[in-house]
Amino acid sequence: MIDVRNIYKTFFVPHEIQAIVDVSSKIKAGEVVVVIGPSGSGKSTFLRCLNRLEMADRGHIYIKGVDILSPKTDINKVRAEVGMVFQSFNLFPHKTVFDNVTLAQRVVRKRSQEDAAQKAMTLLDKVGIRDKANAYPDQLSGGQQQRVAIARALAMDPEVMLFDEPTSALDPEMIGEVLDVMKTLAREGMTMVVVTHEMGFAKEVADRVIFMDHGSIVEEGTPEHFFTSPVHDRTKLFLSQIL
Ligand code: ADP
Ligand code: MG
Repeated sequence: MIDVRNIYKTFFVPHEIQAIVDVSSKIKAGEVVVVIGPSGSGKSTFLRCLNRLEMADRGHIYIKGVDILSPKTDINKVRAEVGMVFQSFNLFPHKTVFDNVTLAQRVVRKRSQEDAAQKAMTLLDKVGIRDKANAYPDQLSGGQQQRVAIARALAMDPEVMLFDEPTSALDPEMIGEVLDVMKTLAREGMTMVVVTHEMGFAKEVADRVIFMDHGSIVEEGTPEHFFTSPVHDRTKLFLSQIL
């Protein structure tokens, strides 16, 4: 599904930072990959490269065989196939929940109002907030807003879902409801790349855990390998700090 080959990303402002250094990874259809690592290790940049919110400087990224770094590739098409959920929800504040979930369906997928509405209500039902369809984002809790953001991304029928610390901005009592939606998606076979500090989620749901540090993948393996017998000192140190 995703084939990342030797990508690099350097930022030059405010000073030169090698955010991604020679990262390669293959992610299969239906696989759930959890990315962990210290702050500033390149996790968000890696995810953002996968839907070209950041353009990798070197290397190749193929999604279902499409070279997404090629100038010939229609990036809006790629983004429709690669849904993303952010820490900060990023809903349109002046639009209702219903409009948030139908807008891109109409504009990008060119669906009729009826089809978009039906899809929106089905997905709002799935994430447990059908009754909030006419509410505005600021009338919802953080957990509810994040579930709307997930429904909005799913409404595009993506092949892959990227999650960048989806529960980090939530009050503790709301983390579970968002993780539950993500667990359901995983069980249904969605291909997912998830940056999170929720190690319980990683242990329970991940097929593979990737540990990044200083822009590189230091270690990767099954959750069992990761949490019981990590090999690298940096992985051990990181786990000792967070567990
Ligand atoms: P993480 O998500 O693991 O915390 P990031 O991918 O956000 O790490 O950042 C990796 C490095 O790249 C950090 O040093 C960060 O400051 C830098 N960085 C990320 N985005 C930008 C940007 N748009 N401009 C400049 N530097 C950036
Ligand atoms: Mg980040």
